[in-house]
Amino acid sequence: MIVEAYKIEIKGLVQGVGFRPFVYKLAKRHAIRGNVENNNEGVLIQAEGNRNHIQQFIRAMKAEAPVASKIAAINIKVEPIIGFENFSILPSHSYSNEITEVSPDIAVCDACLEDMKSQPHRIDYPFTNCTHCGPRFSIIKVLPYDRHNTTMAPFKMCDTCHSEYTDVSDRRFHAQPVACNHCGPGYSLHLSNGEILNDFETILEKVVRLLDGEKILAMKGLGGFHLSCDAFNEDAVRLLRLKKNREGKPLAVMFADLETVKNYLHVNPEEEKLLQSWRRPIVLLREKKPLPFSVSNGLNTVGAMLPYMPFHYQLFEKLQTSALVMTSGNLSGEPVLIDNEKALEKFAGIADAVLTYNREIYNRLDDSVCMVVNGKERVIRRSRAYVPASITLSHNTEGLFAAGAELVNCFAIGKGNKVLMSQYIGDLKNPETLDFYAESFQRFRQLFRFKLSLAAADLHPDYFSTKFAMETEMPVELIQHHHAHIASCMAEHNLDEKVIGISFDGTGLGTDGKIWGGEFLICDLIDFERPFHFENILQPGGDLTIRQPWRMAASCLYHYFGEDFLRKMHGKLFPYVEQEAFDMVLVMLKNRINCPETSSAGRLFDAVSALTGVCTEASYHAEAPMRLESVAAENVRDSYPFAIQEGQISFKPMFAGLIDDLENGKSLSVISAKFHNTVVEVVEKVVEKLSVTTGLKKVVLSGGSFQNKILLKNTEILLRKKGFEVYSHEQVPSNDGGIALGQLAVAARRRETGEIVKQEVNNSDNQLNNQ
Ligand SMILES: [Zn+2]
Ligand SMILES: [Zn+2]
Repeated sequence: MIVEAYKIEIKGLVQGVGFRPFVYKLAKRHAIRGNVENNNEGVLIQAEGNRNHIQQFIRAMKAEAPVASKIAAINIKVEPIIGFENFSILPSHSYSNEITEVSPDIAVCDACLEDMKSQPHRIDYPFTNCTHCGPRFSIIKVLPYDRHNTTMAPFKMCDTCHSEYTDVSDRRFHAQPVACNHCGPGYSLHLSNGEILNDFETILEKVVRLLDGEKILAMKGLGGFHLSCDAFNEDAVRLLRLKKNREGKPLAVMFADLETVKNYLHVNPEEEKLLQSWRRPIVLLREKKPLPFSVSNGLNTVGAMLPYMPFHYQLFEKLQTSALVMTSGNLSGEPVLIDNEKALEKFAGIADAVLTYNREIYNRLDDSVCMVVNGKERVIRRSRAYVPASITLSHNTEGLFAAGAELVNCFAIGKGNKVLMSQYIGDLKNPETLDFYAESFQRFRQLFRFKLSLAAADLHPDYFSTKFAMETEMPVELIQHHHAHIASCMAEHNLDEKVIGISFDGTGLGTDGKIWGGEFLICDLIDFERPFHFENILQPGGDLTIRQPWRMAASCLYHYFGEDFLRKMHGKLFPYVEQEAFDMVLVMLKNRINCPETSSAGRLFDAVSALTGVCTEASYHAEAPMRLESVAAENVRDSYPFAIQEGQISFKPMFAGLIDDLENGKSLSVISAKFHNTVVEVVEKVVEKLSVTTGLKKVVLSGGSFQNKILLKNTEILLRKKGFEVYSHEQVPSNDGGIALGQLAVAARRRETGEIVKQEVNNSDNQLNNQ
């Protein structure tokens, strides 16, 4: 038997996920001698053995890798034979400034759930975890990922846990948060009468009684608090809504198991896989059997997830109900609460009891949200179990900080050729959220040993993120909003060339000082041109139109058909708008008072949603487009006409047809479908025109409007049918939560080429004041 020696380097997410013990076990199985250690970029293996055995060893490594690990590359080099006698795990040595990947949090594994029924020291222990599962990013403060650097530090391991922790053949070998009934964290239940329960069995019983009894519970989760109640009880859900002041937003639901999800919601195989994945995101699914109205407030989709903490499983074992509302534990607009004291104070008037535990959450995380379109996972909110997994670019990103946008903010930092995107932060206009932003930036900086050298930010000078970037006193690269959207999707797919970019969203400042959002770009990672866009329409009252979409509908009618027509239509199409308010909007339009111009796709959806009466007042972000999508009929092929003139897309013919349909009593679901089809056809027509003039065949879709399933699905299908290569978002949100990646990619590319692109707003026509 000929012995050969190799050095095997594994790059990717292979630290903090049980990779070294996994390699150790495989080496034993395949009679490999040598050692394994963590290095800066991943895991390094010295392997000696028979060639066949080594091949099997490497194959098994790929096939059986721990669930949360991600092998990016395996490099194999022949080495001189040293003559190892056995296989060992070498201790981690100190880390340099290079990036070390930190594992996201992982849902409890089946083996641990089993241990909770069989291991004497872990019977019913709700913080059971192992190297394959449990908290990670939520508890880590600094690297390396060792227990004393996490919020597990105050808990001293008992002898049993310690022997598991040091036994290389144990599933808990080097599981940093290892704990049991004798030594780990525990729950406390705070009742509204001031009583505090500490015995777990009593707590579980009480919580079950409260939830089955229509009560509201605040409960500390993995990345923050949840507010919870019986999802099948309309009264309880309505009360939770009322108390939380959550306006109309749909509430997420945790189901006991997959079977229950399937009873109520349509689940295809990809969605099923996603629901059950170790990330356990919220998955948006279409309703089959209705849940109480207040859960989704009339939308036909529900955000569903499965249990991911041991406590969730323990709850459903005892509960009568098989579904719980699990909405972020925050007050409207604020970040999700993570602090026990604050939770007790803030939930006092909302929850009937507050369930806490005595391990600190260091990094705050909301539940992540996904959907499946055209067979692919699409992340809409990237947080728990996704962050801080990195994205690899083919450019040097070192020292870059991208500040993100304003509304659904995430920021990003660059290390080496990687991008680390922050968890979902939220709306920076809220002061608490802005604090969370600044704090998270400091924590990313510390955790990843980040040294800032160049910042990238949105062109909008009033965004808090832009101001934050300016205050770093580093040079700031300004990047136009819609260019950043396209660049984000390009970066996700490693594109670095000229493409046709379709960027549809609600609001972003354009280089002409107007509000953009229905944009067709020819761009690369450095700069862009804007050959086509939706026609500019006045936005009477600026941002107020987002709350009152009827203003946009009135503006479109005024723009396309004039004052007399709009007046004539008032009673028919806007019967709910008082004469005074109606007249005021008309005066604003005629005199262009507080009327910024916008080419926004979001506002077009708002206008149609209001015109059809589907949504005339919006109580939360993007409600009008979401409702319009929700009512659309399937299998309608018709569309409305439109016109393209001098680089602008006019929807005049569409509105004429749409009003005819309304007057002829066509159903709203048909009208909505026809409208969606029209937008898809607009994209097709413009892309064909652009392809003829430029020869480009790659089309990149981005922007919040592509969260609309119908739009994304049909646009992709139609463009592919026409022979285009279509790229859309998968792991990064298409909404503003993905913009930081694009900003960072553009900054990296500009720095690399030394190209100075001066992007500034033309002040002669500045409409910022109106935004
Ligand atoms: Zn486990
Ligand atoms: Zn223990």
